[in-house]
Parts: sequence; structure tokens; C-alpha cells
Amino acid sequence: MTVLAITEHRRGELRDVSLELVSAGRELADELGGDLALAVIGGDVDAFADELNRDGVDTIYTVDEGEEFNHGVYTQAIEQLHDELDPTALLMPNSVNGLDYAPAVAQSLDIPLVTDVIGLEGDETVEVTREQYGGKVETTYDIDADQYALTVRPAEWPTAEADGDAAIEAFDADIDEDALGTTVNGFEEVGGGDVDISEADVLVSVGRGIEEEENLPLVEELADALDATLSSSRPIVDNGWLPANRQVGQSGKVVTPDVYIAIGISGAVQHVAGMKGSDTIVAINTDPNAPIYDIADYGIVDDLFEVVPELIEEFGGEAP
Ligand code: FAD
Repeated sequence: MTVLAITEHRRGELRDVSLELVSAGRELADELGGDLALAVIGGDVDAFADELNRDGVDTIYTVDEGEEFNHGVYTQAIEQLHDELDPTALLMPNSVNGLDYAPAVAQSLDIPLVTDVIGLEGDETVEVTREQYGGKVETTYDIDADQYALTVRPAEWPTAEADGDAAIEAFDADIDEDALGTTVNGFEEVGGGDVDISEADVLVSVGRGIEEEENLPLVEELADALDATLSSSRPIVDNGWLPANRQVGQSGKVVTPDVYIAIGISGAVQHVAGMKGSDTIVAINTDPNAPIYDIADYGIVDDLFEVVPELIEEFGGEAP
């Protein structure tokens, strides 16, 4: 039995979810009594293969095809690897890219797909857990199929750290250029630069309590004073005050910083789904009954316009 996990990289860097897939894949392979194979597709695959060579990985397949992510290349390469390896489980990241190709791959291979998986238990069959209704309930699915595909939620498994001694093999995918569907002409970051809030150690996150766009410099100043990254709840992005890549939550990014400071954020389930894995959560909110306090480690029940300037000064900044 083989578990095949598809890794992910972006702009020359391996994404954390790839090493989390090693942990999830190894866990499932142990329960099923099988091997763990990884695939890395795109440019610089040999360097990524070295980075992916962690304890528990049996084989790493490199598919040297193009520099940037291309839906058609990934779909064709994964289908061909699947035909070759005949894996029981196909694991993919529940990321923007993963969700782009996973349904197409599953459909083409005619295997069931469960997305956004947060728990795995294997025996004769496999049980997978996922959240529904914005995290209000967890549902367990018993997959009764010989072969299946799963997308694994980022930040649910630890990153695999220990060095390994996997075999590294080049896989020669036969890509049909005419069937790609899209051509990648280049890569341009959307507004917000190349900030990746999911990689930040400290996040200062702002919500509707900030009231107006003109007040944003206040929280930006706190982020500067703390050497932190600015993120937000969805209304701030919906209002166009910050770009979409700053949004934390169910329809934004999942973050796991050391410290998450929620300022004027109520703690709706859709927001909490994206930040509950933070090590230490600090909330600043005037409403003592705000749900954010249910998960906060420290809370300041007070007006953010009073508290934040004091914090800025405390940390050596200057309030605007
Ligand atoms: P509010 O809920 O309005 O809270 C503002 C808070 O600020 C209040 O608790 C208030 O007490 C406090 N406050 C007000 N003034 C002050 C002050 N002066 N000082 C201190 N505190 C103050 N939301 C996300 O964030 N991310 C998502 O990915 C996301 N995805 C969604 C997906 C779906 C399908 C749906 C239906 C919703 C989604 N939402 C998401 C929206 C979510 O339901 C909430 O509406 C949103 O999180 C609320 O944002 P907020 O906490 O900033 O605003």
C-alpha cells in the first residue's frame, strides 16, 4: 500500500504544508502499513527534493516541468504518477493551488475526494474528519473505496523535522501541451506585496472595531512597534481597506503564529477557524461577552483607541 502526497512550493520556497503532509502521510501510511511517496512538481525540483527528504519518507518523485504553478501540468503529472504507483491514498494540500487541481484529478481518476481534512485514522478502511458549518461541528467519513483522494488542511499536522534517507527518483511526465488549457505567462503579486500572513510569528489583527479606514495607521503602528505583520477579519477586506491576502479565517488564511493580537474582532466562528491554532491569543475588545474571549489567553476589555496607543508607547513606537 502506498500513500502519495503532492507537495507545494511558491516563488522558490517550499510551503510549510508540504512538511505537514509528510507528517500526515506518514501517519496514514503507518496505520495502513504502507510506504510514503512524495511528489514535487515544477522548477528547482532537485533542491526541493533535498529539503523534503525527512524521516518517514520512502521515495520522492521529482517532476521537472515549468517554473510556475500550472493547473494542467499538475493535473496531468499527478494522474500519470497515480497510474504508475497505484496508491491507496492521494494526499494534496487544501490550499488555493491544491483546491484548483484536486477535484480535476479525482474526477479524472474516478476516485472519491474529501476536502479540508483535519483528522485521519486508518485501519481496513480510512476514517477522515472534517469541520462543517464554519467549525461548529466535526464530521467523520468512513471511506469505503480501494483508492481515494484527500486535501489536508494546512497547520493541522506538525511539520516533519528530522532528516531522512528517501530515494529520489526523476519521473518523466508526458505532458500534452495541447490539453493544458492555460498558459502561464508570468507571475505578478496582488496588492499587499509578498506578505504571507501564514508565515508570520506575530500577527496584529484588526476587525470592525477600528470603525474607519482612516484609523488603520493606529494598528499599523502597533504592528511596526512589535515587528509584527498586520492581518484582519473579513469586513476589513470586504471594505477594501486591506488586500485579500491579509484576511484570516475560513474564507481567508489559516494562521498559527506564536502571538495573535485580535483588536476589535468579535471572534465569529468563521474567523476563529483561521486562528485558533495560534500559540498565544490576546484580545482587545470592549464587549466582555465577545466570543473571542472564549479562546483568548489574555484579554483587555477596553476601548482599542485607548489601549493601542499605550501599547505602542510601551513597545517604543509613537502613536499616530
Ligand atoms: P464584528 O463581528 O462586527 O466585531 C467587531 C468587534 O469589535 C465587536 O466584538 C465589538 O465589541 C468590538 N469593538 C467595537 N468597537 C471597539 C472599540 N472601540 N474597542 C475595542 N473593541 C471594539 N470572517 C472572517 O474574519 N474571516 C473569514 O474568513 C470569514 N469567512 C466567512 C465565510 C462565510 C461563508 C461567512 C458567512 C462569513 C465569514 N466571515 C469571515 C464573517 C464572520 O461571520 C464575521 O462577520 C466577521 O468575522 C466579523 O468580523 P469582526 O469581528 O471584525 O466584526
